[in-house]
Amino acid sequence: MPELPEVETVARDLRALVVGATIVGAACDWPATVQTHTPEALAETVSGRVIEAVGRRGKRIVVELSGDRALTVHLKMTGQLFVVTSDTPSDRHVHLVLALDDGREVRFRDVRKFGRVGLYARSEVGELETEEGEASPLAGLGPEPLDPAFTLRAWRQRIRGRRGRLKSLLTDQGFVAGVGNIYADEALWRARLHPLRTAGTLRPDDERRLYREVRAILTEAVERRGSSIDDYTAPEGDGSMQERLDVYQREGEPCRRCGRPIRRIVLGIRATHFCSFCQRLPAVDRPGAARILAAGVARERALARRAAKAAPRAGGTGARAPGSGSDGRPARRGPRWTEAAAEGALGLTPAEAARAAARARTERTRRAAATRRAAARGSAVAPAPESADGQPGVDEG
Ligand SMILES: [Zn+2]
Repeated sequence: MPELPEVETVARDLRALVVGATIVGAACDWPATVQTHTPEALAETVSGRVIEAVGRRGKRIVVELSGDRALTVHLKMTGQLFVVTSDTPSDRHVHLVLALDDGREVRFRDVRKFGRVGLYARSEVGELETEEGEASPLAGLGPEPLDPAFTLRAWRQRIRGRRGRLKSLLTDQGFVAGVGNIYADEALWRARLHPLRTAGTLRPDDERRLYREVRAILTEAVERRGSSIDDYTAPEGDGSMQERLDVYQREGEPCRRCGRPIRRIVLGIRATHFCSFCQRLPAVDRPGAARILAAGVARERALARRAAKAAPRAGGTGARAPGSGSDGRPARRGPRWTEAAAEGALGLTPAEAARAAARARTERTRRAAATRRAAARGSAVAPAPESADGQPGVDEG
């Protein structure tokens, strides 16, 4: 899912392309995409409004319109925004189109259809609310980690007294806005802190390292236009941060610090990646972590059983559930989860076989994502209109 750097990149691209343009119409073929209005009401309300600014808050893009309105876009899993000329061929995954007065369109393409768009009234102080006075989707968000006002002192005040474990704390949007699975894993690896460590065990030096690394990884990722993994791409093209990630989707590959294989555990519904040697868990956190891991084992096994039942016994081609072997039975993915819970996640290395399997799986994921992105760009993107000097983009003046 796109996180702060990816959403920031989309917002910046969009800003350069559409600020100053007037919306002349809107069409939506999947009503659930628009949270606040029917497609007809949305079209009626946005038509005639000028796009005044494009920004970001947390993982949402905020498009400010004339007349004190704002559109918010949450890309969720697979949302993509493109700005194209209206004669560009579309595809069935484009669910919302904003027509602009210069013959271009902003297209929201969303394969899984989890993405959400909202239209809000904008108050004088920039707060958003629905016409019925309901609260903004931005209410309750934690501070922006790259905001200059987000100082080490502010971070310490925030993290002290929190009881959560670091991974869930970092990805809690109410704690700090915009950090998700990728950059939480990366920041924790860089700061040498175990994802299951509790915030209460951090010493002042740990707090400072984590603060520094969260901001450093996000800053670098923004500079590199985000990580183009899964379906993420931006109006002006892919990012390159995926080449710089140290742990995310590197299960089984050697840690860039110590050479031991990167581990992957499932917490809740998300995979977490870390080095169990570089990111030691303090003894006081081990019993609690073991319980969490054991719950993960049980869940993983239940999923594997379900996948095995759903998969055809023979002749299945390509429709296998992740984690299933070629015969439809769950594949053994390295050490059993119970072993991971008891030992591996807390310090031991997994077997060579697990490394090879993990590498193959990661490579398949990457190849599939690259193929999907290429297909998406081919169907939804045309060259941006060029200005007189041949440079793509929009007149700055
Ligand atoms: Zn390591």
